[in-house]
Amino acid sequence: MPTVTQDIPQVLRRTDPDGTPAPLVFDSPHTGMAFPDDFDPVIPMEMCERVSDWFIEDLFGEAPAHGAVFLEALFRRAYLDPNRDPADLDVTMIEGGWPDPVEATEKTARGASLIWRVIDGETPIYGRKLTVGEVRSRIETYWRPYHAELKAALDEVHALHDRVFHVNCHSMPEWGDARWGDQGTRRSDFIVGTRDGTTASDAFTEVVVESLRASGYSVTVNDRFKGVELIRRYADPANRRESLQIEVNRGIYMDEAAITRSERYGATKAAITRMIQALRDYAVG
Ligand SMILES: [Zn+2]
Repeated sequence: MPTVTQDIPQVLRRTDPDGTPAPLVFDSPHTGMAFPDDFDPVIPMEMCERVSDWFIEDLFGEAPAHGAVFLEALFRRAYLDPNRDPADLDVTMIEGGWPDPVEATEKTARGASLIWRVIDGETPIYGRKLTVGEVRSRIETYWRPYHAELKAALDEVHALHDRVFHVNCHSMPEWGDARWGDQGTRRSDFIVGTRDGTTASDAFTEVVVESLRASGYSVTVNDRFKGVELIRRYADPANRRESLQIEVNRGIYMDEAAITRSERYGATKAAITRMIQALRDYAVG
C-alpha cells in the first residue's frame, strides 16, 4: 500500500509508493477543500468553492500504486493559486501596494493571478484590500511549502533514476467560453499542455496522448491550455526533467452543475489508470 509521507493540515499531502518506485511524480494543485480562517470573501462561499478541479485527486489516485509520488494541495484555489508565480500579483488588491517586484501576466488581467480577484471572470471576491501581511502569509504558509515539497519530490526521484516525468493534473469546463475565445465549442476530452513543447519531449507527450486515444477519447495538445507555473518552473528536458499538464474535460466524468460524479466516471478513471500504467512502462523502460 502506498504511504502518506507528508501531511500538513490545510496545506498539502504527499503519498509515496511502496515497492519499486518509478521516475514519476503527479501533482493535483486545485482539489483542496480548505478555506483558511482568514479567507474573507464578500460573496457566498459556494461561489468560491466552485472553482475547483473536482475529483481529480481521485481520478489520478492510482498513481502511487504504479510507483509514482503523488502530491495534493489541501487549500482551495480561490484562496491561493499554486499554479502561479508569486510575483504574479494584482497590486490593486493590496493595501498600500506591494514592496517586492511584481510581474503581471495575462492571468492578472483576467483576475486570476496568485490571489484571485474575481470568480467567473467578473464577480469580485473581496470587499476590501488585502494587507501586505495577509498576502505574505498566504505565500509563506501555502505557496512555499507546496512548491518546496514538489521540488523535493522531483529532485529525489531524479537523484534515484537520473530522470523524472512530472504530470500536473487539472480539469476544465466541458464547454468553451468567451474568456478563452472558444465559446460555443465543446472542448476535447483531454488537453495536454507542454508550453508549446518546451517542458516535455514529444516521446513523453505521445505516451499520454496515444494511451488516452486508445481508450476512445479525443485528445489535443497545447490547445489553449498549455500549462502554467507548476510545469514551467521545474521542467528542464535537457536534463531529463520533463513536466506536462493534463486537463480533463469535466463532461467526461461529472455533472458540473450538481458537482456529482456522472455515469461516465468509472470508464474515465479506468482510462486514466491505463495511461498511468503506460507512463510507468515508458518511464522505467
Ligand atoms: Zn486546475
